[in-house]
Amino acid sequence: MAAEGFIGEHFLKKGTTDSGAKANAESIDARSLLVKRRRRSATIGRSIMEYQVVVLGGGPAGLSAAIYAARSGFSTVILEKMLPGGQIANASRVENYPGFVDGVSGMELGQSMHRQAEKEGAETVITEVTGIELADRGADSIFHTVKTTDQDVRGLAVIIATGSRYRLLNVPGEIELTGKGVSYCATCDGPFFRGKKVLVVGGGDTAIADALELSKFANEVTVVHRRDELRASRALQGNVLRTPKIQFMWNSVVESIYGDPAVSSVRLRNTKNDIISELAVDGVFVAVGSVPSTGFLGDSVPVDEFGCVITNVQLETDVAGVFAAGDVRHDSARQAITAAGDGATAALSARRYISSL
Ligand SMILES: Cc1cc2nc3c(=O)[nH]c(=O)nc-3n(C[C@H](O)[C@H](O)[C@H](O)COP(=O)(O)OP(=O)(O)OC[C@H]3O[C@@H](n4cnc5c(N)ncnc54)[C@H](O)[C@@H]3O)c2cc1C
Repeated sequence: MAAEGFIGEHFLKKGTTDSGAKANAESIDARSLLVKRRRRSATIGRSIMEYQVVVLGGGPAGLSAAIYAARSGFSTVILEKMLPGGQIANASRVENYPGFVDGVSGMELGQSMHRQAEKEGAETVITEVTGIELADRGADSIFHTVKTTDQDVRGLAVIIATGSRYRLLNVPGEIELTGKGVSYCATCDGPFFRGKKVLVVGGGDTAIADALELSKFANEVTVVHRRDELRASRALQGNVLRTPKIQFMWNSVVESIYGDPAVSSVRLRNTKNDIISELAVDGVFVAVGSVPSTGFLGDSVPVDEFGCVITNVQLETDVAGVFAAGDVRHDSARQAITAAGDGATAALSARRYISSL
């Protein structure tokens, strides 16, 4: 649930007056912003806040972007609807983030990133982003306006880092056993299933890539697919069919996941004849897609057919001053480290952009 308010330093304590904010807003000299670390303005009545860099989302991408932006001397705010940390906070153990030889809990990793961003001077507002109004250069405005459930936040640069969420199977046992055998990330959790029996649910590229990844660790990998043929690319299909450890259950769906305290079996239904069976497994990898959190963008910024934000390699979108980083963007590798790398790249691009104004 979203909690309203501020984390860290309270913005309104430092805001200027209503009229001061208005007068300043459009005449602001963007270059001078480079050296003024904390120039901000606020109108309490209309609740407008103004920063040089506005970061949407407080996961690894957004927090890394905030660290880089704040360290560059920009007034920076992170708008996050939940507790900062992002999806990685749901990982019980992260073993593939560089610098942690023995691994680290996802919660600890997310919270440390957030502390670091605040230490550098970034502020956090817990609020939900609901839309963006792009700068209207014609009307001589260089500020984009981010709409939230609480107030408008204006920024010279906006970094979209709202991530995505995995599609769930929505079957009994799934939520309760997430992190206890149910996983949505084979790259992250595969090594925990060395010598075990695992199930992969799905038939697209991700499911098949996951099955191949898991076959490096698990003794048996069963792919359960609701249809009788895969949607995955021919190349991936060729690889998977040549891997003896991987078998298929066609025309089948998972109806329940069982186990206490960890996954021990699944209940399956054949969609052609409705025959029910139970299969003993140690892990269930759900690979039925993910949904980017971009609904609030409307048609302000170009997205691909799945709703992921399209960027170039500098993580610029088609809109000047709007950048995207992490799982939310097209072709993301969907890993904490790539999200963090994206955040840094986007912030450096934002810095170049602001310097050019
Ligand atoms: C259970 C689990 C385990 C994982 N394990 C690993 C692992 O071991 N190693 C690894 O590298 N990766 C792992 N991942 C993947 C990793 O967590 C993601 O790739 C990474 O978190 C993506 O970072 P991000 O910042 O792009 O997005 P996210 O982490 O999704 O962060 C986006 C943030 O934006 C916020 N947000 C969304 N919409 C709005 C809005 N409208 N307004 C305000 N805020 C909004 C969200 O609340 C969220 O905090 C795991 C993921 C899960 C779910």
